[in-house]
Amino acid sequence: MFPVFQGTVYESVPGETYDQIQYLRLSTTPSQTYLHDKLAALENAEAAVATASGMAAVTAALMSVLGTGNHLLASDVLYGGTHSLLADYADKLGWSYTFVDPADPQSWKTAVRPETTAFLVESVTNPLMRVGDLAGVAAFCQDHNLVSVIDNTFPSPVNFRPIEIGFDLVLHSATKYLGGHSDLVAGCVVGNSGHVAAARSVVSHFGGSLDPHTGFLLARGLKTLAVRVKAQNANALALARELSAHPEVGDVYYPGLDAHPDHARAAQLFDGFGGMLAFRLGDGARADRFIDALRLPYRAPSLGGVESLVTQPVRTSHAGMTPADRERIGVTLDLIRFSCGIENSDDLVADVRAALDVL
Ligand code: PLP
Repeated sequence: MFPVFQGTVYESVPGETYDQIQYLRLSTTPSQTYLHDKLAALENAEAAVATASGMAAVTAALMSVLGTGNHLLASDVLYGGTHSLLADYADKLGWSYTFVDPADPQSWKTAVRPETTAFLVESVTNPLMRVGDLAGVAAFCQDHNLVSVIDNTFPSPVNFRPIEIGFDLVLHSATKYLGGHSDLVAGCVVGNSGHVAAARSVVSHFGGSLDPHTGFLLARGLKTLAVRVKAQNANALALARELSAHPEVGDVYYPGLDAHPDHARAAQLFDGFGGMLAFRLGDGARADRFIDALRLPYRAPSLGGVESLVTQPVRTSHAGMTPADRERIGVTLDLIRFSCGIENSDDLVADVRAALDVL
């Protein structure tokens, strides 16, 4: 069982170096190292550091690879919090960045500069579930001596392990699939020991280490990660198929569907297509009526828990963007995002079918 060591500091051994000091903020207590080993193993990586949130993981990863005067290539579709971090703080930190299309290598070649040090992408974009040329990004970074950083929250390591295709740093909002029960906020950064040591140093100095009780919940969640994610993959595929065959539903965005533009790439990279999908119902009023009529899923943002959640990204994850920017990326009032839980597949499909009947 996960050892909840509440102590913040541990007795030193003679000759101990600073790095060997066991102190909670330095992420070196027995509870923390136990969790780090599990997180690293899941991603097939050398090392990991747990953080106090997914955003702490994003911040630690970026601060460890960018200094004053450095430039970042970043995917042009990012989680809203990461997008705002760049928009609001890059200037203050002396970083510059260029948004590029993770599916278009020409856009990377055009944007890369001598001062570029890193490339940030997400495995699956939110909410249209696009999958970029991830193997191409990793190879491009190797060729150009950039650190490749990927937010792997959506697939979870059950479906995709980016280190295996050459990524340097993988990060997660562990609040989502890794925890899996919507009862904790945490994150992690995973990679080789050198990169993780640099990220851990940021966590140590700017604050953001994970406390042992949350670590306990997270490690307990990890025990069922594989069965949860497989059930979520199956539910999402069943729902996506049902929705795409339904006359009341417009476009359905799920990489497991043959019709998805990135299906072939996702099939090659991933072991499963994930628990997230999105679809259009024509207009905002119909989207509202549909959500009101659902009985199983909760109307809520966030994702990755055992209970299905349904949301309109316009009102939640993408509320901070300007209407014009939202329009550009297809986030409009008629768009619904579904985070599948582990409910019985037939129940979930029947509930969605019944809610579509009221439209
Ligand atoms: N990355 C992705 C892809 C997310 O969806 C989120 C949160 O929704 C985060 C990072 C930030 O995670 P947290 O809320 O745990 O800080």
